[in-house]
Amino acid sequence: MLIKEFISETNKNKMIADMLKYHKVQNVKIKLKAMKDFAHFDVDRGTLELSTKYSRIKNIQIKEFLITILHEIYHAMDAKKYGWKKFKEMYEMEMNLMIAKGKDEYKDNKYEIEAEKFGQGIWKAWSRKFKKEGLI
Ligand SMILES: [Zn+2]
Repeated sequence: MLIKEFISETNKNKMIADMLKYHKVQNVKIKLKAMKDFAHFDVDRGTLELSTKYSRIKNIQIKEFLITILHEIYHAMDAKKYGWKKFKEMYEMEMNLMIAKGKDEYKDNKYEIEAEKFGQGIWKAWSRKFKKEGLI
Protein backbone atom coordinates (compact mmCIF):
# COMPACT_ATOMS: atom_id res chain seq x y z
CA MET A 1 0.00 0.00 0.00
CA LEU A 2 1.27 3.40 -0.92
CA ILE A 3 1.11 5.89 1.87
CA LYS A 4 1.42 9.57 1.06
CA GLU A 5 4.21 10.85 3.24
CA PHE A 6 4.04 14.47 2.20
CA ILE A 7 1.33 16.88 1.26
CA SER A 8 2.44 18.74 -1.84
CA GLU A 9 2.94 22.48 -1.92
CA THR A 10 0.07 22.82 -4.40
CA ASN A 11 -2.36 20.96 -2.14
CA LYS A 12 -1.16 22.86 0.92
CA ASN A 13 -1.73 26.18 -0.82
CA LYS A 14 -5.14 25.05 -2.05
CA MET A 15 -6.17 24.14 1.51
CA ILE A 16 -5.05 27.52 2.86
CA ALA A 17 -6.87 29.35 0.06
CA ASP A 18 -10.07 27.33 0.66
CA MET A 19 -10.05 28.03 4.40
CA LEU A 20 -9.37 31.75 3.92
CA LYS A 21 -12.16 32.02 1.37
CA TYR A 22 -14.70 30.05 3.40
CA HIS A 23 -14.05 32.15 6.49
CA LYS A 24 -14.23 35.30 4.35
CA VAL A 25 -10.74 36.56 5.06
CA GLN A 26 -9.34 35.91 1.58
CA ASN A 27 -8.38 39.58 1.31
CA VAL A 28 -6.17 39.58 4.38
CA LYS A 29 -2.60 40.74 3.72
CA ILE A 30 -0.28 37.74 3.46
CA LYS A 31 3.43 37.71 4.04
CA LEU A 32 5.72 34.74 3.46
CA LYS A 33 8.32 34.38 6.14
CA ALA A 34 10.90 31.82 7.26
CA MET A 35 9.65 30.79 10.70
CA LYS A 36 9.15 27.73 12.86
CA ASP A 37 5.36 27.91 13.16
CA PHE A 38 3.15 27.14 10.17
CA ALA A 39 1.46 30.52 10.42
CA HIS A 40 1.19 33.61 12.58
CA PHE A 41 -1.18 36.56 12.56
CA ASP A 42 0.71 39.80 13.11
CA VAL A 43 -1.78 41.83 15.13
CA ASP A 44 0.40 44.97 14.84
CA ARG A 45 0.19 44.97 11.06
CA GLY A 46 -2.99 43.01 10.35
CA THR A 47 -0.95 40.53 8.32
CA LEU A 48 -1.18 36.77 8.09
CA GLU A 49 2.32 35.35 7.95
CA LEU A 50 2.81 31.94 6.36
CA SER A 51 5.97 29.94 6.86
CA THR A 52 8.23 29.29 3.90
CA LYS A 53 9.85 26.46 5.87
CA TYR A 54 7.04 24.09 5.03
CA SER A 55 6.67 24.10 1.28
CA ARG A 56 5.51 20.52 1.77
CA ILE A 57 4.09 19.24 5.03
CA LYS A 58 4.37 15.81 6.55
CA ASN A 59 1.18 13.84 6.86
CA ILE A 60 1.63 13.51 10.61
CA GLN A 61 1.71 17.32 10.87
CA ILE A 62 -1.68 17.78 9.26
CA LYS A 63 -3.60 18.23 12.52
CA GLU A 64 -1.16 20.84 13.81
CA PHE A 65 -1.11 22.52 10.40
CA LEU A 66 -4.92 22.83 10.22
CA ILE A 67 -5.32 23.97 13.83
CA THR A 68 -2.60 26.59 13.42
CA ILE A 69 -3.98 27.98 10.17
CA LEU A 70 -7.53 28.07 11.58
CA HIS A 71 -6.33 29.69 14.82
CA GLU A 72 -4.62 32.44 12.82
CA ILE A 73 -7.63 32.77 10.52
CA TYR A 74 -9.72 33.48 13.60
CA HIS A 75 -7.44 36.43 14.45
CA ALA A 76 -7.87 37.63 10.86
CA MET A 77 -11.67 37.32 11.26
CA ASP A 78 -11.50 39.43 14.43
CA ALA A 79 -9.28 41.98 12.65
CA LYS A 80 -11.79 42.16 9.79
CA LYS A 81 -14.74 42.44 12.18
CA TYR A 82 -13.32 45.33 14.21
CA GLY A 83 -10.86 46.81 11.72
CA TRP A 84 -7.28 45.75 12.32
CA LYS A 85 -6.20 48.96 14.07
CA LYS A 86 -9.08 48.75 16.49
CA PHE A 87 -8.42 45.04 17.02
CA LYS A 88 -4.77 45.81 17.74
CA GLU A 89 -5.90 48.22 20.48
CA MET A 90 -8.33 45.68 21.90
CA TYR A 91 -5.68 42.97 21.84
CA GLU A 92 -3.12 45.18 23.59
CA MET A 93 -5.66 46.21 26.19
CA GLU A 94 -6.38 42.55 26.90
CA MET A 95 -2.64 41.86 27.22
CA ASN A 96 -2.23 44.73 29.68
CA LEU A 97 -5.25 43.58 31.65
CA MET A 98 -3.81 40.06 31.96
CA ILE A 99 -0.44 41.45 33.06
CA ALA A 100 -2.17 43.66 35.63
CA LYS A 101 -3.99 40.60 36.96
CA GLY A 102 -0.74 38.68 37.20
CA LYS A 103 -1.86 36.32 34.43
CA ASP A 104 -0.16 35.32 31.21
CA GLU A 105 -0.54 37.90 28.43
CA TYR A 106 -0.93 35.19 25.76
CA LYS A 107 -2.11 32.02 27.49
CA ASP A 108 -4.85 33.81 29.42
CA ASN A 109 -5.65 36.29 26.65
CA LYS A 110 -9.32 35.90 25.65
CA TYR A 111 -8.56 36.45 21.95
CA GLU A 112 -6.00 33.64 22.05
CA ILE A 113 -8.37 31.33 23.95
CA GLU A 114 -11.17 31.99 21.44
CA ALA A 115 -8.86 31.47 18.44
CA GLU A 116 -7.59 28.17 19.84
CA LYS A 117 -11.12 26.98 20.61
CA PHE A 118 -12.10 27.79 17.02
CA GLY A 119 -9.16 25.85 15.57
CA GLN A 120 -9.66 22.85 17.87
CA GLY A 121 -13.38 22.78 17.19
CA ILE A 122 -13.32 22.94 13.41
CA TRP A 123 -10.12 21.25 12.15
CA LYS A 124 -11.66 17.78 11.92
CA ALA A 125 -14.42 18.98 9.61
CA TRP A 126 -11.81 20.57 7.33
CA SER A 127 -9.70 17.42 7.53
CA ARG A 128 -12.68 15.29 6.43
CA LYS A 129 -13.45 17.63 3.54
CA PHE A 130 -9.82 17.72 2.34
CA LYS A 131 -9.57 13.92 2.59
CA LYS A 132 -12.73 13.54 0.51
CA GLU A 133 -11.22 15.86 -2.10
CA GLY A 134 -7.98 13.87 -2.13
CA LEU A 135 -5.90 16.82 -0.96
CA ILE A 136 -4.56 14.97 2.08
ZN1 LIG B 1 -3.09 33.41 18.39
